[in-house]
Amino acid sequence: MAKIKSVYSREILDSRGNPTVETTIWTDNNHGAVSSVPSGASTGRLEAMELRDGDPQRFEGMGVLKAVANVNQIISKYVIGQDPSKQNNIDQILLNLDGTENKSRLGANAILSVSQACFELGAACEEMPTFQYTVEKYGFAKPTALHLPTPIFNLINGGKHGAGNLDFQEFHVIPSSQKKFSEALEMGSELYHNLKNILVEKKAIHSVGDEGGFAPNLFSNTDAIELLVETIDSSPYKLNKDVFLGLDVAASTLYKNGKYKISDVKENMSGEQLRDFLIDLNKKYSLLSIEDPFDQEAWKDWAELTQNIGKQVMIVGDDLLVTNRKRLEEAIQKNACNAILIKPNQIGTISETASVIKLAKKNNFSIVVSHRSGDTDEDFLADFAVGVGADFVKFGAPGRGERVAKYNRLSFIQEYLTSLNG
Ligand code: PEP
Ligand code: MG
Repeated sequence: MAKIKSVYSREILDSRGNPTVETTIWTDNNHGAVSSVPSGASTGRLEAMELRDGDPQRFEGMGVLKAVANVNQIISKYVIGQDPSKQNNIDQILLNLDGTENKSRLGANAILSVSQACFELGAACEEMPTFQYTVEKYGFAKPTALHLPTPIFNLINGGKHGAGNLDFQEFHVIPSSQKKFSEALEMGSELYHNLKNILVEKKAIHSVGDEGGFAPNLFSNTDAIELLVETIDSSPYKLNKDVFLGLDVAASTLYKNGKYKISDVKENMSGEQLRDFLIDLNKKYSLLSIEDPFDQEAWKDWAELTQNIGKQVMIVGDDLLVTNRKRLEEAIQKNACNAILIKPNQIGTISETASVIKLAKKNNFSIVVSHRSGDTDEDFLADFAVGVGADFVKFGAPGRGERVAKYNRLSFIQEYLTSLNG
């Protein structure tokens, strides 16, 4: 049995240039793993708390030296000597040490960096790729090269990730799940470049937002959807056959004093009005998925939309569910949605994340494993998504290093599985 010999954490930068935590763990038989954690901009109210220093003298208060010190000075003492393959034990130690509901004492960033590095170390000790270790550890179905998660490409960035003029946060193109991952990736890349050419032609701004999608100067959310339709129409692919559209409304960020404000509609909208607006959009575009259509506490509106269009459309809970078992139980009981976004840093440990996925699968929810808008070149999530048998991955645009690191890892896994199974 290998034992953890050393734990070392440090401050690195994420894709927004903000500090985040990276932890390296070694065993006494010289296996090592390095893991870094991401950070969201449109965070759910009930997410586990990432610990920031709040020292205005450093990184405008965004430093993570306290979280790093919590790993190096507190967590390490309890984790050294443990068997890295005992993930539940390690995560329980982390939960006990923190002792708060939202991981605010040690910081979810400190905790996840250790939990994730231990998980990767467990895989390294077993000399297995992390995706295979995930399958064996939690008993998910064995993946095959032909059934990897389908990528959701975020080609236009609005909301908190964009230039300030689009209300909806993400405008997706989603290749058909019939396509092999390599074909889907090629489609994503071609559509990304087609979209850029169209923006150049239209003399629209084509700088990119936080997740690598374009952040153009359009007037309305519907303009952005139309632009994606035009992009697909100018490609060899057929809309709603080869490729579908999706949205992350991130509606909690649009909700003020009981109303939603979007540029497509003059007056502020009630939940019912937004619901009808989304139902109409779906009639026109046959959306494959709508994430966070309403505020994170508007359970009734969620349930009504799901009742209305949930048979055809994935209604995805992100801020609503925050990868949290209790919130998922409530959603199941209220029939609030039919898909869950999985972001390990919303909950803070790998064991809790796996347990949420199991419950979601048991209740026939679709699983979408997701990056964060502030991310690193970490590719753990690609393995994890394959290992848990996710239906989809949401890793941003097929551009920018921190996004393509994850897509490229999926390509590697596809090749690896093909070489095993022929
Ligand atoms: C999202 O809302 O789905 C997302 C990835 O953004 P963030 O990381 O800012 O929450
Ligand atoms: Mg979201």
